[in-house]
Amino acid sequence: MAEFDYKPWWSQATERFSAAEDIAALLKELEWLFDETEKMIQDHKEGDRSLIACHAGCQDCCIVNVSVTLLEGIAITRFLRQWDEPQQREIVAKVDALWTAVRGLEDDERMMVRKKCAFLDASGCCTIYPVRPLFCRGVTSIDVDACRSAIADQAFGVTTEVMMHQFQLDLYKVAFGAIASGLEQSGLDGRSFQLCGLTRYLLAHPDQEEVSLRSSALNWNDLY
Ligand code: SF4
Repeated sequence: MAEFDYKPWWSQATERFSAAEDIAALLKELEWLFDETEKMIQDHKEGDRSLIACHAGCQDCCIVNVSVTLLEGIAITRFLRQWDEPQQREIVAKVDALWTAVRGLEDDERMMVRKKCAFLDASGCCTIYPVRPLFCRGVTSIDVDACRSAIADQAFGVTTEVMMHQFQLDLYKVAFGAIASGLEQSGLDGRSFQLCGLTRYLLAHPDQEEVSLRSSALNWNDLY
C-alpha cells in the first residue's frame, strides 16, 4: 500500500490554526482536529487496529511525561472548570500533589517514581478523555506485557521497542506539529509544556490564558 502523504493534511491543519482569530476560534479548530484525526484513523486501511490492546482501565502508560501545547492546556482546563466545585477542588489538589512530586524530573526519572497521571480516576480511566492530549491519543500498544516491560526498562535508561499502530502515532505527531506551526505563524506561542505543570498553572490563573498564548510570556519558572 502507498505510504500516506501527511504533507497536504499538515498544511491544511496549519492554515486553519494560523487563520483562527481568537481563543474561541482556536478551540473550535482543536475540536475539528480531534474529529478529523479520529475519522482518518477509522478510514485508514493500513495496520490491523483490532490488534491494539489498549482499553479503558489500562493505565500502565499513564505515568510518563506528557507534552502539550498551550492550546491543549487551555482546552483541558476549560473542560475541568465545567466540573462541580468539589470535583474541581479535588483535581486541583491532585495536580498540585503530582507536580510537587515530578516537577523537574527527566523522562526516565519520571518513570522511576511511577506516579500516576492526576487525571486518572479510581478505575484507571482518563477523566479528561474528550480533550485528552494528542500525545496520549497517538500512543498505542499491541501487547500489554511488552508495554509494561518497556516502561520498566526505560526507568533504567534502556529503550525497548513496543509494537504500536504507526499511522496513529505519526498522525498525532503531525497534528501536534500543525498546531505549533499554526500558532507560531500567527505570532502566538507554539511551544509545548508538561501537562501537569501547565494545567496546574492555568487552573490557578484562568485570567492568564490569553496573555500566555499571545505573548509567549509563559516560562518554566511560572510553572514552578
Ligand atoms: S491525560 Fe489521560 S490518557 Fe493521558 S496520561 Fe493522563 S490519564 Fe492517561
